Amino acid sequence: MTKIILKKGREESLRRFHPWVFSGAIAQIVGEPAEGDIVGVFAHDGSFLAYGHYQIGSIAVRVLSFSGEDVLGPDFWTVMLSKALKMRQAAGLTSDSSTNCFRLVHGEGDGLPGLIIDWYDGVCVMQAHSVGMFRAKTAICEALKSVFGDSLKAVYDKSSGTAPFKAGLDLVDGYIYKADGFSDDEQVVLENGNKFLVNWTEGQKTGFFLDQRDNRNLVGRYSKGRNVLNLFCYTGGFSIYALNNGAVHVDSVDSSKKAVEMVTRNMALNGFDAGLHEDICADAMDFLRDVPEDKYDLMIVDPPAFAKHRGALGNALRAYQRLNAAAISKVAPGGLVFTFSCSQVVDKEVFALAVFSAAAQTGRSVRILDRLNQPADHAVNIYHPEGEYLKGLLLYVE
Ligand code: SAH
Repeated sequence: MTKIILKKGREESLRRFHPWVFSGAIAQIVGEPAEGDIVGVFAHDGSFLAYGHYQIGSIAVRVLSFSGEDVLGPDFWTVMLSKALKMRQAAGLTSDSSTNCFRLVHGEGDGLPGLIIDWYDGVCVMQAHSVGMFRAKTAICEALKSVFGDSLKAVYDKSSGTAPFKAGLDLVDGYIYKADGFSDDEQVVLENGNKFLVNWTEGQKTGFFLDQRDNRNLVGRYSKGRNVLNLFCYTGGFSIYALNNGAVHVDSVDSSKKAVEMVTRNMALNGFDAGLHEDICADAMDFLRDVPEDKYDLMIVDPPAFAKHRGALGNALRAYQRLNAAAISKVAPGGLVFTFSCSQVVDKEVFALAVFSAAAQTGRSVRILDRLNQPADHAVNIYHPEGEYLKGLLLYVE
């Protein structure tokens, strides 16, 4: 096996269980690893540090194990997936009859850097973000079969948009397992008793944004009697919760036509008639510009990541500020704004600062009622704080 030997002193972060080896920390590569191979990582003095997936790029090794040879054994994937499932069991996500979808594997949060697996009532949708995980997909699929047995309906690999494009990798999405009789590309899932159609082949990411489950519940708690505007609604997650909890009317806005069509289907699925909702395909900023003041007394603002890397931080913060100022200025007196950022490089302090500037720009009196996060199944490895990405604020605007 290839040995990666680090420069003197560069082993410190690995000794603190941070799971990445940056290319600049490497003194010597003994062997000729192919991308995605498992390599051993050693300190300058020769002591063992970790095993992980090798890849050419700024992150050269993504660590799979800090403790010996287990990563090379036949049970590695089964053991890791069982641990991931156990954590979701501990979080109450597998025994709750009102929820049958959750994130099963959240990359570094589950000790599996580069791997995402979402569970949709028996259908696993997998996204590999590294060559190593992409190459391991058959082994991962076999492990899913052994962990879930008959309750596994299908495994769909959706890595074409996430795995790095490398020569020799056949990045075509498709099923790697289908149980007998399974044929659909979409199915209905339950989230806290709310019904949603999830289509993993046509939808964004793995098909549904499972990371907003707890925040959707909170929106539900505040929805009774309110007139709701859900901006960046995707398939209507927040909208369905709002109506199921007594909102008087919900307008849902997204720039994706496909997403808006799914909102309409989800409304019908939950039994809401057309008079209760409008599903609008539009740019959120343009829409807000024409919103009459006082019309909505609950707004949700959940845009896509404005900053995908540090270099984009300045522009992203200005965009968050503009968007939030527009929302805060238009919400009715005594209204609520649920505002989010899913940009990993925008941390919660910096986001709060952008929202603070937005509020100041409007001159309105604004209180913070709650601070919002990602849910338990999007677990953050304490040694890898970079795993924290979703943050939000619940604002009360006088
Ligand atoms: N709140 C959603 C997830 C939002 S993801 C949920 O609970 O499921 C971000 C969404 O913003 C995507 O659906 C994307 O299509 C949409 N989007 C991106 N740019 C947009 C824009 N300028 N105006 C409106 N929607 C936009």
